[in-house]
Amino acid sequence: MKGMKCRCGFATISDKRLCPRCGKRMKTAEWPDEGKVLSFTRLQAIPEGLPDPYNLALVAVPKGPKLVCWTSGTLRENDPVTIFEQKGKYLCSPKIGLDFKLDESKSD
Ligand SMILES: [Zn+2]
Repeated sequence: MKGMKCRCGFATISDKRLCPRCGKRMKTAEWPDEGKVLSFTRLQAIPEGLPDPYNLALVAVPKGPKLVCWTSGTLRENDPVTIFEQKGKYLCSPKIGLDFKLDESKSD
């Protein structure tokens, strides 16, 4: 995914020119479409006519932004997920069955 990143470490997927944290000019940045679940919310009252997915996860992209993603799955904190964009909304799904590690520790 693409977004903006500041030298101070602030990152966002919105198209902001100036950093809301320090006020400096931000640069465009790109991150892999994957992250880790920080928190997960199962919506109890689902509005009528709202199609799947209807749960929300706050996902942290490594060295990148945190974003709220819709998901139809049930996620837990620290679950690795794949993020994708659909009609202007961010969705995520669990990375299951993939030998994937977020930290780049090299253990054989
Ligand atoms: Zn900044």
